[in-house]
Amino acid sequence: MDHFIYQNGALCAEDVPLAQIAAEVGTPFYCYSTQTLTRHYKLFAEALDGVPHFICYAMKAASNQAILRTLARLGAGMDVVSGGEYARARAAGVPGDHIVFSGVGKTDDEITQALQGGIRQFNVESEPEMQAISRIASALGKTAPIAVRVNPDVDAKTHAKIATGKSENKFGIPISRAAEVYAMAASLPGLQVVGIDVHIGSQLTDLAPFEAAYTKVAELCESLRAQGHDIQRLDLGGGLGIPYSRSNETPPLPRDYGAMVKRTLGHLGCEIEIEPGRLIAGNAGVLVSKVIYVKSGEDRNFLILDAAMNDLIRPAMYDAHHDIVPLAEPAAGAEQDTYDVVGPVCESGDTFTKGRSLPRLDTGDLVAFRSAGAYGAVMSSEYNSRPLVPEVLVNGSDFAVIRPRPSYAEMIGRDVIPDWLMEDDAADG
Ligand SMILES: *Cc1c(COP(=O)(O)O)cnc(C)c1O
Repeated sequence: MDHFIYQNGALCAEDVPLAQIAAEVGTPFYCYSTQTLTRHYKLFAEALDGVPHFICYAMKAASNQAILRTLARLGAGMDVVSGGEYARARAAGVPGDHIVFSGVGKTDDEITQALQGGIRQFNVESEPEMQAISRIASALGKTAPIAVRVNPDVDAKTHAKIATGKSENKFGIPISRAAEVYAMAASLPGLQVVGIDVHIGSQLTDLAPFEAAYTKVAELCESLRAQGHDIQRLDLGGGLGIPYSRSNETPPLPRDYGAMVKRTLGHLGCEIEIEPGRLIAGNAGVLVSKVIYVKSGEDRNFLILDAAMNDLIRPAMYDAHHDIVPLAEPAAGAEQDTYDVVGPVCESGDTFTKGRSLPRLDTGDLVAFRSAGAYGAVMSSEYNSRPLVPEVLVNGSDFAVIRPRPSYAEMIGRDVIPDWLMEDDAADG
């Protein structure tokens, strides 16, 4: 459920008509709903009620500081995957001991930054990384809390680009080698083992792969404890899928996920950490765009929008489906047309969808891509020198621009012309 619904014929974000925001901000823009973000966070908190838990929002899904602050105020920690995300979380007011650092390629600088700024836990993905954290923590006179990310070799049954829990994926340490790696952790200075970490992929639409992975984690927890390791926390990653198509998708609910977690892991007395990203932010955001032209091809109609693959890359990158709806509510029985919906970028890959049946649209009409809150704005670029798409946050009847659209001067002003190109006549020698 989200808070983007038609009221008096106009698609609203909570109580604000999106067309009103479009008039003030211009298109395209991303718009997020505070109430939806809040609701999704609370669904997870309720789902894990009864077991000690800590919810770390995977901020790579949508990392604007206004979103982070909205969630942090509810008690969320953050799962970060770079020094930049760590800095963003801290700037948004998240304390260091609410931050979990994930990712396969943490650099010395990033490890130092987190140790100096404060960190709840490093999720360690390899032995060389463990050695680096040990070396840096020792040099700084600190102790680094760590969990080892294990790769349980289960098929998450999701898109290949977002499956992370098979042995062929670059993530984590094979679960079969965990005993060895935990023994190494215990032998190295500057480290404190606090738990086990696992994350098998994203947009999972079935609980079975999670349950298979968590069952393996439960066994591992018991055997590591028997070997003398103090396993206090189980970090279960993120990955719960969302319905991108309202008509035919019903992924499991946080409630069912929570019940399964309690059933498979509850007896261990561990603190449960989860790292949801998509489920919190995905349906809490839309991308609003304007129709520039409707172009009739030989055998198809192209709906040419002012949003493009640089603003929302998911269809091009993951073959993702997004429901597209007009901001003006179509009359019951309104005429439909079939469209290939495309952007202005000079690539055939800049196609959001082909052969989509939509209410008839015309130049100037506004549409919203639903479920665009996660892996949307964060993956945008300035390809084709299109300024980064702005972001807006709605809260009840208020809205605020939380990232303005850069002007052309700001966008091109970051280029630096070297000395040897400064003179006008340089080309002539
Ligand atoms: C991406 C990621 C997540 C979040 O995944 P979602 O599918 O967005 O919930 C959580 N943990 C780690 C380590 C990740 O890489």
